[in-house]
Amino acid sequence: MKIAEYTIDEMKKIVSGVSGMYDLARVVDPSECRVLELRGDGGISAGECCYGVWESSQRCINCSSAIACKTGCHQVKEERFNEKIFHIQSNPIRLKLADGGIYDAVLELISIHNDEKGAGAEAVNDRIAENSDSKAIRYQAQYDSLTKALNRDSFYEKARMEMEENPDIPRVMITSDIREFRLVNSLFGEAKGNEVLYKTAEHLKKIADDCGGICGRLGGDRFALLLPDALFSEESLIDAAHVLSGTFSSGIYTLSLHFGIFRVADTSAPVSVMCDRANMALRTISDDVRCSAAYFDDTIMEKRLAEQQTISEFDDALQNGQIRMYLQPLTDKSGNAFGAEALARWKRPDGEIVLPSAFIDTLERAGLIHELDKYIWEQAVKQLSLWRGTDKEDLSISVNMSAKDLYCMDVYQVLTDLLDKYGVSRDKLRIEITESALIEDPENSYPVITKLQDAGFLIEIDDFGKGQSSLSLLKDIKADILKIDMGFLRETANKTRSKIILRSVISMANELGMHVISEGVETEAQLSTLTSMGCSGFQGFYFSRPVPVSEFESKY
Ligand code: C2E
Ligand code: CA
Ligand code: CA
Repeated sequence: MKIAEYTIDEMKKIVSGVSGMYDLARVVDPSECRVLELRGDGGISAGECCYGVWESSQRCINCSSAIACKTGCHQVKEERFNEKIFHIQSNPIRLKLADGGIYDAVLELISIHNDEKGAGAEAVNDRIAENSDSKAIRYQAQYDSLTKALNRDSFYEKARMEMEENPDIPRVMITSDIREFRLVNSLFGEAKGNEVLYKTAEHLKKIADDCGGICGRLGGDRFALLLPDALFSEESLIDAAHVLSGTFSSGIYTLSLHFGIFRVADTSAPVSVMCDRANMALRTISDDVRCSAAYFDDTIMEKRLAEQQTISEFDDALQNGQIRMYLQPLTDKSGNAFGAEALARWKRPDGEIVLPSAFIDTLERAGLIHELDKYIWEQAVKQLSLWRGTDKEDLSISVNMSAKDLYCMDVYQVLTDLLDKYGVSRDKLRIEITESALIEDPENSYPVITKLQDAGFLIEIDDFGKGQSSLSLLKDIKADILKIDMGFLRETANKTRSKIILRSVISMANELGMHVISEGVETEAQLSTLTSMGCSGFQGFYFSRPVPVSEFESKY
């Protein structure tokens, strides 16, 4: 179900609009059990405890707003307390904050009646009676069963209480992420994955204990720490990361633990907003950096706002033809094109051409990449149909497919429909999917790839050699074309070794019946090295940069 999104201003108007109809209308963050104050500057602050309204002193175990928030479904329940009946409706909502953040919350609409039958005796609190059974239940409700760290809700609640008790202590909020953690499960099995998580939690809990902070598991491989700034040291984090990396890395996988650090200035901000800031810092660390930490600062916030702008302008850009398909030739060693790769460009109204590196990641995160891909696929198929019966009839076009496309649409249906619509034969459109997309989600990607191949599409594995376990992929996926990333040829330090690996990969691919295309060929020397190694397909600036379709047509 799609959850309605509101700006803070819109939400304020809704709350004041409905407040005449209910005894109480309020916006609540059920993970922290706080009523949210909707600020004039478009932000939010954590206010009083939400359960205070029925004079309880502890969070409700059966919180219907928490269920609404987690499931995205409207919930209704009644609470009885002190001879009153509270009829509570919980409506899940998303708040769009002025800084571009999105915040999941609940609009609670509460009617209060007198409990005439006097049944109020079994008050809300009867479920928090502290016998030994309920202690065990409470423990389970607070701690994550695998790692014994606080679970997300308890971490948020405890963090809030700590900051309320001592608001003047400067603190840091830290979140962690194990790079490509899903690979641990898929390469070594779930038991190993669990062991990694358990050990990670052990190290992080110790860091928290040593300086009087708290540690929680936010979900998956994500942990969070709230520590006093004065006692926290970045080295302790990096040391722990190195120990874990040393323990769990193997020939084909290097475990890398990254941290995002946010210095908490305003303790009234919701804890999830603090975690979000730390996560924003975390995302600035690039994938190929090992065991590292990054701090949140204003430039990150500016980037977030730019991302928001990309997202809000993207639909219009698609409609208004600002998204263009550029073509980069795929050639033989003499520069004769046998095809082209379709690459997206965003042509701004002022004429600026924006490269995909500025918007692809954002669109992926926002769940919009399939819109772009579908659009470019259609441009490519249309182009192929225009070339029919001309001297360009034999050219194919390769299009990119994001791993996210598999979740957002029926890729097979979309592609077959497109080719039928324009009457283009399936082997003319080649599908590029990156090695990392295939490895990260084999259950989803392999069947689709096979189905597309069976239907006559040619599949190219993109960016081969960039990922962690290229070779294990070749064993499972029978691709038609392998696009080798030239990144490692550019590294001068290990040139001899890189060349040996490259030569072996090319000959292995040839033996497996795969055509090899080297990407990023910039110099004649690279071209002749690759040719001598048995590579026969090339793409790179040496022959041509990606160019507008008309330019491509006049050149080739
Ligand atoms: P990619 O699929 O690996 O595309 C090849 C990239 O390498 C292109 O960057 C191309 O301009 C660049 N390149 C080609 N030859 C050379 C060379 O000799 N030297 C160097 N340094 N670079 C070279 P571009 O166009 O900026 O695209 C970047 C990435 O954005 C693409 O990498 C692809 O992953 C993604 N992308 C582009 N268009 C789309 C799209 O429509 N959908 C999706 N999902 N991704 C796209
Ligand atoms: Ca590509
Ligand atoms: Ca590539």
